[in-house]
Amino acid sequence: MTDCIFCKIAKGQIPSKIAYEDENVIAFYDQDPQAPVHVLVIPKEHIASAMEVTPENSGLIARVWEAIPKIAADLGLENGFRVVNNCGKDGMQTVKHLHFHLLGKKQMGWPPFPAQ
Ligand SMILES: [Zn+2]
Repeated sequence: MTDCIFCKIAKGQIPSKIAYEDENVIAFYDQDPQAPVHVLVIPKEHIASAMEVTPENSGLIARVWEAIPKIAADLGLENGFRVVNNCGKDGMQTVKHLHFHLLGKKQMGWPPFPAQ
């Protein structure tokens, strides 16, 4: 998508601090980190949200999950981490390009759901 900020990051049209990149996946540091380590892992191809995952594109999600342990190891997260996906308005998804927050090094107080 031409107006998608994450597509532009994936194409190198917007600079970002890259943590990992391969043919299908790119990971970059969140500009508003919610944990000492906070990167966003995305498929380079535009998928709007988790609601748009289909049999045709789910292979890209597998590529994302194959990259996550490599990224976690590179970032020193051998003791564990969180992976969070926010989907849609009620899920507090802010950028409409499927992305996974990889959070590590404790201080993981970021609530997965809004406070009640
Ligand atoms: Zn996009």
